[in-house]
Amino acid sequence: MSYIVSKYYDSLTEDNVKCLLCPHNCIIKNGNTGICGVRHNIDGSIYAENYGKVVAMNMDPVEKKPLYHYYPGHKIFSVGTDGCNLKCIFCQNYLISQSDYKSLQDVDFYSPQMLVDIALRQKDNIGIAYTYNEPFIWFEYVCDTAKIAKNYALKNVMVTNGYINSAPLNELLQYMDAFNVDLKSFNNNFYKRHTGATLEPVLNTIKSIHKSGKHLEITNLVVTNLNDNADEFRNMVKWICENTGSNTPLHISRYFPSYKYSAPPTSAETIIEFYHIACEYLDFVYTGNIYLDKGNDTYCPQCGKTLILRNGYNISLQNITNDGKCEFCGKQIVISE
Ligand code: SF4
Repeated sequence: MSYIVSKYYDSLTEDNVKCLLCPHNCIIKNGNTGICGVRHNIDGSIYAENYGKVVAMNMDPVEKKPLYHYYPGHKIFSVGTDGCNLKCIFCQNYLISQSDYKSLQDVDFYSPQMLVDIALRQKDNIGIAYTYNEPFIWFEYVCDTAKIAKNYALKNVMVTNGYINSAPLNELLQYMDAFNVDLKSFNNNFYKRHTGATLEPVLNTIKSIHKSGKHLEITNLVVTNLNDNADEFRNMVKWICENTGSNTPLHISRYFPSYKYSAPPTSAETIIEFYHIACEYLDFVYTGNIYLDKGNDTYCPQCGKTLILRNGYNISLQNITNDGKCEFCGKQIVISE
C-alpha cells in the first residue's frame, strides 16, 4: 500500500525517476525501490511506503538517544519505522533498519495527529524523538508530525546518520529542536566499504545543523578493526572542535558484534584511549555501552567540578544554576531546555 508522493525527485523518463532525498540520488525503475527499500517508483512517481507506519514506540530517557545536554533527566516519546539508506555491516539495529517496505504491509497506520495525540498522553514527556531506524528516509511523515507537535509545544528530536541532501535538510530544520548525528568515521573509504555511503554529506549535515543553532550532539561507534585508528579518530575530534565548537558533546560508543560483522567488542583500552584523545579537544566527552569512571558525568570544563551525575538513567544535576552556569566558577555550560 502506498501513501504519500515524495516531494524530492525528478522524472527522468516515463519509467525512471531520480530520488533527491539523500546523496545516493537513486535512479529507480518503475516497480523498484531505492537503496533504502522504502521509496518506491510506481508509474513514474516516488511513494513513501513507510508513511505513518510506526514499528516501535516507547517512552525513553532522553539520555538513551543519546542526548546528555538536552533536558537532562527527562523522558521523550520515541518512534521509528523500517528501512535505512545506509548498509552498515555492523548495524546494531539491523532487524528494523535493514527491512524494506514489504515488512510494513501489516503494520498499523498512525496519522501524524494520532501520533502527536499519543505523545501528548504520555506522562512527563518533553516531545517526540524520531529514532531507532534512519528518520530522514521517513521524511514526509517526520515533517508532518513535527509541524503538528510544535504547535503543542512538544520538542522534536532526530537521531540520524546525517546522510541527507541539503534541500530536505533545510526544510526539516525548521521543525527540529535537537539532533544526535552518528559520525561513523573520518575516513571516506570506511564509509564507502562498510556503510555504502560517503563521508562529505554527513559532515555537511553536521555543519548545517550547527549553523542553524539547533541543539547538536555527535556519536561515534568505535568498531573493532574498522574505524579504531587513533590518528583518524584524532582528526575527527579536531574537525568537530574546529567546525561545531569544543562544547559539542561527543559520545564514544562501544561496538558489539552484530548483523554481518563478528569481530570482538571494542576493547576497553581503545575506548579509554579515545576518551583521552577527545578530551584534548572537546569539553564534554562521554562513553557509551561501557562503564568508565569519568565517561558518564558532566564536569565543568573550567574548574573541573562535577555538574551532572549519571548513574544509569538516574540523573542528578548538581552545582549548576537554572541558567546553565557552573555554581563554582560561573562558566556557561551548554544545556538546552
Ligand atoms: S532516500 Fe532512499 S531512494 Fe532516495 S536516494 Fe536515498 S536511498 Fe535512494
